[in-house]
Amino acid sequence: MYSFEYHRPESIAQATALRAEAEDAIYLAGGQTLIPTLKQRLAAPSDVIDLSRVPGLAGIELKSDCVVIGAMTRHAEVAASAEVARAIPALAFLAGEIGDAQVRNRGTLGGSVANSDPSADYPAAVIGLGATIVTDRRRIAADDFFHDLFETALEAGELLTAIEFPIAKRAAYCKFPNPASRYAVVGVFAADFGGKVRVGVTGAGPCAFRATAIEAALGKKLDAKSVDAVEIEYDRFNSDLHASAEYRANLVRVMAKRAVEKLLTA
Ligand SMILES: Cc1cc2nc3c(=O)[nH]c(=O)nc-3n(C[C@H](O)[C@H](O)[C@H](O)COP(=O)(O)OP(=O)(O)OC[C@H]3O[C@@H](n4cnc5c(N)ncnc54)[C@H](O)[C@@H]3O)c2cc1C
Repeated sequence: MYSFEYHRPESIAQATALRAEAEDAIYLAGGQTLIPTLKQRLAAPSDVIDLSRVPGLAGIELKSDCVVIGAMTRHAEVAASAEVARAIPALAFLAGEIGDAQVRNRGTLGGSVANSDPSADYPAAVIGLGATIVTDRRRIAADDFFHDLFETALEAGELLTAIEFPIAKRAAYCKFPNPASRYAVVGVFAADFGGKVRVGVTGAGPCAFRATAIEAALGKKLDAKSVDAVEIEYDRFNSDLHASAEYRANLVRVMAKRAVEKLLTA
């Protein structure tokens, strides 16, 4: 690990001001990605801004049409939340499937979504539910948020403060987990808003995306068999030691079918 200045601000304004003033600062949330990155000397920030003492960044609020989850809310809290289980059970299920107990007790929603790891679980729900990402500066629609591998719409120093997840009529998440890390080799989140179906995919491409061809097929008939006729294009899919692009394309179909079957019984 290279040396850096450590800060523990106590307000959003203080955190963003520190970020703006420093030469090359970075926010620290749960540290599940950032700390290993620093330890391996893959990053050398001048300053690390720890968000753990910033009030108002953690918590879950159930509104009439959405669930608002603060950026610093841990995966374990989402998995155990009665409000989330009641409003969007698929989201509580997804959070409970992330990594292991240690990762779920430290990792945060904001860290996961801001990081945009291609295999992270939450981005599938953000896309599948058509969530709104709230920052210290603006509100960003899910469809405009994930740009590429570890690249999002967040600008330099922009702080993700919360995510608003619309409450679907019913929803389901299915993933094919990497047996070691539990990251999604492919994960599919399907949500039915009563006539309109959204499908978010993670793990397959450089970042999470909407499977619009599957959405169109399910829009005609909400049945797992509808997915069979859809051609899954995989030119831009990831290919690595875990799975080839072609294999991932097959997983998108299989996970989408399972998600729809699960959704129909939800
Ligand atoms: C062994 C292991 C297994 C895992 N398995 C899974 C899995 O199965 N599924 C899965 O989805 N994830 C998995 N993860 C990832 C983990 O769950 C965290 O979501 C992830 O590490 C990022 O969250 P964090 O809170 O730890 O963020 P950090 O590591 O603290 O930060 C990550 C990045 O996000 C930035 N950031 C953090 N918070 C904000 C914010 N509020 N605004 C702007 N930028 C911010 C940081 O500056 C940094 O660049 C695993 C991690 C480990 C170590």
